[in-house]
Amino acid sequence: MESLTAAHIVQIWELGQGQHPLDRVLTCLAFALPDQPLDILASLSIGRRDGYLLTLRELTFGPTLDSVATCPSCQETLEFALKVGDIRTGDPSVPLVDPVEWETDGIRLKFRLPNSLDLAATVGLGDSAAARQQLLERCVLAASQGDQPIAVGNLASSVLAQVEGAIAAADPQADITLDLTCPACGHNWQVAFDIGAFLWAEITAYAQRLLLDTHQLARVYGWAEADILAMSNQRRQYYLGLVG
Ligand SMILES: [Zn+2]
Repeated sequence: MESLTAAHIVQIWELGQGQHPLDRVLTCLAFALPDQPLDILASLSIGRRDGYLLTLRELTFGPTLDSVATCPSCQETLEFALKVGDIRTGDPSVPLVDPVEWETDGIRLKFRLPNSLDLAATVGLGDSAAARQQLLERCVLAASQGDQPIAVGNLASSVLAQVEGAIAAADPQADITLDLTCPACGHNWQVAFDIGAFLWAEITAYAQRLLLDTHQLARVYGWAEADILAMSNQRRQYYLGLVG
């Protein structure tokens, strides 16, 4: 994997403006893994995708993720730093077991891990129960009790809930939950951490900063945008200091 260059970051931000969040993170990975076709990236499990996004974030912006949350009890703003290593659940180079064979209460199931295409298929199903059903119907490859096959739609809701738990256990990087405590009131709560949204917010802020810097240097020196973006950050910042 390659870190994102300044020119990549501006291009990703530009492309991502009109994209769904699911596609934006694939755009980031397409720049970082230029040898991988987009359909291969889209078929990565969500946990594996997020593992790559964490690596990309570390390569591009470093290992510390400065985060902010609002206490739901007293509305205090909580600032905290996460390390990539703190939220990494395993070695991303170790292959995941996929599909997974699983058995409960005499029911045998074979399921694969949800990927970006599966999540995309649930977009627009506003009703979360419908989205959940759609995801399971796509990912459960076979279900049977004894010799009798069972349709996913006929599985008991208790079994489906267990399948969801088994999917989460098989792809733990897909579901990162932070345990936070408010320093002002002591309230404790959990919040999901989404590396895709986090990285996109950083790319947006950095791309806009790069364009502003480019604008200032181009106006004074008349240099081409591509040349300014191709400079090291140190050199660009030095010229900006001279411009004042
Ligand atoms: Zn609080």
